[in-house]
Amino acid sequence: MLASLITAAALLAQPGQAVRQFISVSDSIVALTNVRVIDGTGAPARTDQTIVMRGGVIQSVGAASQVTVPAGARTLDLAGRTVMPGYVMLHEHLFYPSGGGGVYNEQGYSFPRLYLAGGVTTMRTGGNMAGYADLNIKKAIEEGAMVGPSIDVTAPYLNGPGLSAAIPQVKTLRDADDARKMVAYWADEGATSFKAYMHITQASLRAAVEEAHRRGLKVTGHLCSVTFREAATLGIDDLEHGFVTASDFVTNKKPDECPAGGAVQRSIVALDPNSAPVRDLIAELVRRRVAITSTLTVFETFVASQPGVPAKALDAMLPEARRQYEQTRATLARSPDSTWAVLLRKEMQLEKMFADAGGLLVVGTDPTGFGGVIAGYSNQRALELLVQAGFTPLEAIKVATLNGAKYLGREARIGSIAAGKQADLVVVRGDPSTRIEDVQNAELVFKQGVGYDSPKIFDSVKGRVGLH
Ligand SMILES: [Zn+2]
Repeated sequence: MLASLITAAALLAQPGQAVRQFISVSDSIVALTNVRVIDGTGAPARTDQTIVMRGGVIQSVGAASQVTVPAGARTLDLAGRTVMPGYVMLHEHLFYPSGGGGVYNEQGYSFPRLYLAGGVTTMRTGGNMAGYADLNIKKAIEEGAMVGPSIDVTAPYLNGPGLSAAIPQVKTLRDADDARKMVAYWADEGATSFKAYMHITQASLRAAVEEAHRRGLKVTGHLCSVTFREAATLGIDDLEHGFVTASDFVTNKKPDECPAGGAVQRSIVALDPNSAPVRDLIAELVRRRVAITSTLTVFETFVASQPGVPAKALDAMLPEARRQYEQTRATLARSPDSTWAVLLRKEMQLEKMFADAGGLLVVGTDPTGFGGVIAGYSNQRALELLVQAGFTPLEAIKVATLNGAKYLGREARIGSIAAGKQADLVVVRGDPSTRIEDVQNAELVFKQGVGYDSPKIFDSVKGRVGLH
C-alpha cells in the first residue's frame, strides 16, 4: 500500500495546488509572437520574433515570417516585451542571516518562490546551512509540490578550524580523510556541488577536490586560508566572490592560515589591478579553467552610497528583519567606510579583466551580509551591477545565463534560446539590451515550458523573508 502510494507520487509530474495557483500558461504547445529575443549568447537582440514551445522544449525560434505557429497552439502576443533565457545563477542560498549572531535561518518557503519570480530557472546553492532541507526542497520542486527553480544543491560547507564560534552551523573538518568522507557522504545523499570555506587547509581541499572529481562533481570555494593560486593548483573549479577574497597578495601570508584583522582587504585596496602579479594570477586562473563567481550584490550592501534594498523587496521582509536591516544601513550611512567603496570598484574592474582575458565569469547574488540581499530581486540587480562593472547588457545577460549553464556542464540543454533547448525563459516588459533596468519588469517565467506569473509569486511572499 505504502509502496504503491510512493510510486504514484513519484510518477505524478503534474504540479500540485501550491504550484498551480501561480501557473498562467500550461498548454502543451505555446507560441510567443511579436517578441524581441535576447538569446543569451551575447548576440544582438532580434525583434519581431516567434518562439514555439512544445512539451517543455523550444521547438522553433526565428523571424515571424519564417516560423509557422502550429494549429492548436496557445498564442501570446508579447508586443513590447523581450524574451531572455531563464537565469542560471550560481551563488544562491536557501538561508538568510536573520537574527544575526552568525545563525542562518532556512528560507524554504520564500526563497525558492522569489528566485523563480525573479527569473532564475536554474541555480546552484553556494553553500548550505540546513543539510537535508536543501535536498528535500530540490526534490519537492522537481515533483511539483513547491514553486522554485531547478537546484544544483551544494553540500554543507567544507571548512577548517577557526570559525566554529562565528558560524556554529558549519562543521570543522579534522583532516583530509574527514574531508574525503564528508564529500562522499553528501554526494551519496544527492549533493551535486561542494563549497570550501575560509579556513580549509590545503590538504583537506586537495582531498575534497579529488573525491568530488572522482564522482564527476565540482568544487567551489570562498577562500582565505588557501590562496587562489594554491586552490587553482589543487584543481578547484570555481572561486566565489572574485578577487576581493584573494589572500594571494598579503605579504608574509602563512600557509593554511586566513590572515587576521582585515589584511586581505587592505592588500586588495593597495593592489594595482594592472600590475604584473594581478595579470599573472588572472592568466593562471584562465589557463587552469577556474571560473570566478561575481557576487557584487552582497558587496554593494556595504557601500553606503549604493542604493539599498528596493521598496518592493522591503515589503517582502518580515518586519523584524526589515528593522534590523534598516538599522544597520542607517549606521553605515552615518559612518561610511570608504574601504568597501574602493573594494567594490576594484572587484568590478578585476572581474571585467578576468572575462576579457578569456576567463569564465559566472554570477550569483549571495543573500547573506547583513540581510540586504533579497532573493529574486537580487538576481535582477546582479545584471545591473555587471553593467555598472563595464559589461554591455548583452554580455551581462550572457554571464547570467549561458556562462552559468556552461559551468554546470548543461549548456546543451539550458542557458540560451535555441531550437531543441529546454523552454526556460523570462519575459520582461521593455528592452534590457538597451536599458538593463528593464529586467525588473518580469511578467512571466517559463520553466520547462510552463509559464509562471512572476508578480503573483512575488506578492505571495510579502512579509516572509527572514521568517521562513
Ligand atoms: Zn554565500
